[in-house]
Amino acid sequence: MADITKEILKNLPENKISDINFEGANIVLYTKDKDFFLNNNGMIKRIVDNIKKRVELRPDPGITMDMEEAEKIIRSLIPEEAGIDQVIFDSQRSRVIIEADKPGLAIGKQGSLLRDIRTQTLWVPLIRRKPAIRSKLIENIRAVLYQHSDYRRKFLDKVGHRIYDGWRREKKNEWIRLTYLGSGRQVGRSCIFLQTPESRVLLDCGINVASDEKPYPYLDAPEFNINDLDAVILSHAHIDHCGFIPYLFKYGYRGPVYCTEPTRDVSALLLLDYIKIQRADGQDPIFTSEEIKEMVKHTITLEYDEVSDVTPDVRITLYNAGHILGSAMVHMHVGNGLHNILYSGDQKYGRTLLLEPAVTMFPRLETLMLEATYGGKENIMPHRQETDEELMTIIKETMERGGKVLIPTLGVGRAQEVMLAIEAMVREGRMAPVPVYIDGMVWDVTAIHTAYPEYLNNNIRKLIFHKDQNPFLHEIFTRVGSQKERMDVIENKGACVVLATSGMLTGGPSVEYLKHLCDNPKNSMGFVNYQGEGSMGRRIQKGEKEFTFSDGGKQEMLQIKMHVHTVEGFSGHSSRNQLMNFVAKCEPRPKKVIVNHGENSRCLDLASSIHKGFRIETVAPRNLETVRVK
Ligand SMILES: [Zn+2]
Repeated sequence: MADITKEILKNLPENKISDINFEGANIVLYTKDKDFFLNNNGMIKRIVDNIKKRVELRPDPGITMDMEEAEKIIRSLIPEEAGIDQVIFDSQRSRVIIEADKPGLAIGKQGSLLRDIRTQTLWVPLIRRKPAIRSKLIENIRAVLYQHSDYRRKFLDKVGHRIYDGWRREKKNEWIRLTYLGSGRQVGRSCIFLQTPESRVLLDCGINVASDEKPYPYLDAPEFNINDLDAVILSHAHIDHCGFIPYLFKYGYRGPVYCTEPTRDVSALLLLDYIKIQRADGQDPIFTSEEIKEMVKHTITLEYDEVSDVTPDVRITLYNAGHILGSAMVHMHVGNGLHNILYSGDQKYGRTLLLEPAVTMFPRLETLMLEATYGGKENIMPHRQETDEELMTIIKETMERGGKVLIPTLGVGRAQEVMLAIEAMVREGRMAPVPVYIDGMVWDVTAIHTAYPEYLNNNIRKLIFHKDQNPFLHEIFTRVGSQKERMDVIENKGACVVLATSGMLTGGPSVEYLKHLCDNPKNSMGFVNYQGEGSMGRRIQKGEKEFTFSDGGKQEMLQIKMHVHTVEGFSGHSSRNQLMNFVAKCEPRPKKVIVNHGENSRCLDLASSIHKGFRIETVAPRNLETVRVK
């Protein structure tokens, strides 16, 4: 038995606890004593205060009410307006998951309904929000978790033992090393290996999608051994951060992946899409949907600001990064007060329509690992208001001509930001309502956004919770889900806006639209994200007017007669100024800054400016270099 469980039992009356289990870093006690479960005079709370760990008391599965009867009571207790959908029993863990349209109503005033359910059924209720837009993917993910609840229980217990059973390795010296297996002076394949005398942790494990030559992180580095890996911590769902995680599962990794709940869902979606893209490219996918499922099965979700041990000497907290839905900066407290590191992942220190800016207040901080995507002196961005105005002008002018605006976009983040910008212009009466067609993946990702309003910007949360106005459900938006519907938009719908992937016109629906819309001068193209060197998007942006396309062996000629615009400022990354401001506002001020995730010159430029501006030690490691931070 781990010392911590002995400690807990010592503080409880004898024979009250029938079983103790770990669920990751959480400690779950089971009791067969109904009265003790319902009223233990704050005994559990006192233990939590004392040992500073999460401890939860649940009824032993043997004393919970018959499921059918319990469901009847639950449905009669919760008002109809709450919109209860499924009621799912997790019988091994004595929990019942209740899916509702309006979780607040299902919880009741100060949790009164939850208390009633506990008292009357002896089940522990968990209320989960039903997405406002139905999402097959979220349903599938939840189904995977429910179906494997037995496996999950054992897996989570194993993770808890790793955290609480004491040190495996010799507790002699204290040191911390960070080895760059990717994202050293480059954007793409983010992967950093954290080692302490006791722990082996990966921060992100992504793929460089822009490179055919070196797309994967250096897992063949001598210090890395997959069998010793304790945990993976995922900052956010973009493929250059999560893309290689299923590969770890393919090669036998069965440990935890920590991230937020939206990150789990969005990365599953993007990874499934990545397999499709590889197949369409005529390549053999490097992993299958089975490995994505394994990843989901081994994911432990954390909320922002929730503190969790991941190994005996590493404790993490995720903070809002302001980059995309669910994106996190990872705070690591290593050793016993030894050292505190913040890994920024991708971040934006600036308010967007979608998200709050990145957090700057931390309990302690010595080393900051900061991204430098736009870290160069030249990376100035226009003010957000100018950006919105520019987009509005393009849409208005195109509508007046009776044309269509094609906006090629990445599926996650930028697309939803553009949707919100257009919705706000219409809602505030600055622009006449315009039909906006949302193609394929963009829609699926938007559906996931509606499941997690807690993660969105304060203004949107207020719209959704207090005014019952979900901007994503505005009537101007219509989903395009098939080739037939796509052709209908192209041929039969008049003036409109189309949002479609891919963002650089490197394939996917946006290219389909381009083929049909490009030779009509009434139409417009609005680029809102970075166009990679050599991509079709970049060539059009630069002014090329003629393209030959091979379509099933046939050579096709495309003439670009549509208007072409580039709208800058929708970025989910900090600009150069925002990066410098972030360092200035960081509290406490870090003693060392490691600059990563940026092109060579931008990393060096940002590192030198931070050093000069703040008198902080900086370093910009290359791939395979190790930085010893303590
Ligand atoms: Zn990103």
